[in-house]
Parts: sequence; structure tokens; C-alpha cells
Amino acid sequence: MRRKVTIVLALGLVLLLALGVYLTMGRGKVKEEEVAAFPSPSPTPTEAPWEGDEVGRLRESMVRSQIEARGVKDSQVLEAVRSAPRHEFVLPRYLDQAYADRPLPIGYGQTISQPYIVAAMTELLQIEEGDKILEVGTGSGYQAAVLAEVTDEVYTVEIIPGLAESAAKRLKQLGYTQVQAANLDGYYGWEEHAPYNAIIVTCAPDHMPPPLLEQLKDGGRLVIPVGPPGAYQSLWLVKREGDEFRYENWGGVAFVPLTGEH
Ligand code: SAH
Repeated sequence: MRRKVTIVLALGLVLLLALGVYLTMGRGKVKEEEVAAFPSPSPTPTEAPWEGDEVGRLRESMVRSQIEARGVKDSQVLEAVRSAPRHEFVLPRYLDQAYADRPLPIGYGQTISQPYIVAAMTELLQIEEGDKILEVGTGSGYQAAVLAEVTDEVYTVEIIPGLAESAAKRLKQLGYTQVQAANLDGYYGWEEHAPYNAIIVTCAPDHMPPPLLEQLKDGGRLVIPVGPPGAYQSLWLVKREGDEFRYENWGGVAFVPLTGEH
């Protein structure tokens, strides 16, 4: 009788032990999976994707594959797009596309131009150090920043008050003190600081605005898309020689319309 009790007790003990081992193993497994799915913070902080080397690599790749590969050669322009922090000019929700080969929405139905277009238009302006430049259509302020990497005197005007204000603030915060921004209708240029060595228009009027031609210095250059709104326009390079203007057509582009009363 006593033997039987001992055997039953021993069996019970073995069963309990087996159950204990089984449960511990099971729990161990679950823990491993949890660790894999929710990694604990690494002891050494890793870099955020929009800082340091990573952003430098994205920008370099943008310059090589989108801009140089399509024929932009001017070393000053290449240096400018290598330096201007494009990711600071896009909306947070488009941060992962800041260096992509496309325009991006910036609010108010407007867009920051594709990197290649910014570089190609800047190259057409043939800027020399000390040149005074006017941009019509500040938008995000990115094109103005690229211009400011090439010369020290940049004026930019924007017709939408909200965009004019935020771009001016952003440019200041980033240290682009050589850019002066104003909330103006750029169809009429910015008379106060005229004449300019070069004028760049980043929205499209349906005809050539006479005030912009008038505000060009002798020898000055105007780069402007002209054509019907909502369709393709022609990109024109206009050179002023005395009172004569020479026009070169650089092909089809797609810009948001130049608005305002005129
Ligand atoms: N250069 C900008 C892209 C701007 S998109 C950038 O780098 O982000 C064109 C801009 O031109 C828009 O912000 C639009 O509001 C502005 N615009 C349209 N008509 C204008 C006008 N008459 N005067 C000034 N800006 C104008």
C-alpha cells in the first residue's frame, strides 16, 4: 500500500516537473518573438534618417543621376544644388521624397519644382558673382536658396501671403540672409530693387510680362515659362541687348499658372 502511494507521489512529481519545464520553454519562446517584433532601443543612438550622412548621400545621388546625367554642367550650379538642403523646403509628409525626381505639393495648390528643372533654369540664367537676381514665385523658397548659393543678392516675390510668410521665415532660419522676400504680384516684378542682372519666373503667365523685360539690365537674362495655364508651356531665355531682346525657346515645361490681376 505504502509502495503504491510512493509510486503515485513520484509519478505526480515527475508530471509536475514536466509541466514546469514545458511552461518555462513555452514562455521563453514567446519572449523571443516579442523581442524580435519590438526591438528594444539600441544602447548607442542611431542617426535619424534626415540627418548627417544619409541626407548627404541622397543629395549627391540626386545631383548625379537627375541633374548631371541630364546635361547640367555649370560647376557653380552643381555646387549650389549639392549645398541647398531641399528636405528643409518640403512638407513633413513628403520628407521621404525630398530628393526624388519630381515636383512635390507645398500647400495652397502649389508645388516645389523638380530638382532638375531648378538646376537647368539656374544654369540658363548664367549668373556671375555679384549679380542681382529676382525670382517670381517664391513658393517654398528652395529655388531662392539655390540662387543664394550662387550669388549674394537675391530678391523673391510670392503672391500667396501664407507661402510668402513661411518661405521668408524658413530662408531666414536656414541662414539665407542674402535673400529678401516679399508678398507681391510678380507680374510687375519688384520695381524698388530693379534693374536686375537676371530674372527667373517659376510660374507661367500666358504672355510675356512687359514689366519684367523693363526691369532687366542691359546684358540681363530672363528665364520664363510662357503658355496656356494647365497645359505645357515653352521655356524662354530672353537676353537684353540695349533695347533689343533676343528670344531662345528651350522646349516644353509644365508650371503652375502665374495668377493676379493684369
Ligand atoms: N520656386 C518655387 C516653386 C514655386 S511654384 C520653389 O522653389 O518652391 C510657383 C509659385 O508662384 C507659387 O507659389 C505661386 O503662388 C506663385 N505665383 C503665382 N502667380 C504669382 C504672381 N503673380 N506673383 C508672384 N508669385 C506668383
